[in-house]
Amino acid sequence: MGVPELKKRPCLKCSHVIDGKGCSIYEERPSSCAKFICGWLLDPNMGPDLKPDKCHVVFYQVNEQHITASCDADYPGAWRAPNVLAFLHHLARSLGPSRKVVLLEMGKTWIVSEDAIVPAETG
Ligand code: SF4
Repeated sequence: MGVPELKKRPCLKCSHVIDGKGCSIYEERPSSCAKFICGWLLDPNMGPDLKPDKCHVVFYQVNEQHITASCDADYPGAWRAPNVLAFLHHLARSLGPSRKVVLLEMGKTWIVSEDAIVPAETG
């Protein structure tokens, strides 16, 4: 994800992350980092297989209208795994027509429905 305060663009690694440890400026991290809440921590329907470090997709809420699923740049096809696909469609079904599930994969945006995943341009 992007971090505006750091001018970090989506899909680029943050200069403050330490591999295997985490954020090197955790106490002073930007507010957009501090406000971020991973959906896996909130949703009891998401099993251990959907933890972002296992499935390589992170789910989060940007606003009242959208749930976003963002693929790890190192695993761009991760959303195609059967368990992730099933959860994406489950989310779309449970949110109903007034809210959207948006899938991000290496600069591509997809819209998820109960039974399809289509590019945002045509969705
Ligand atoms: S939490 Fe820390 S490592 Fe992660 S994006 Fe923010 S500043 Fe970078």
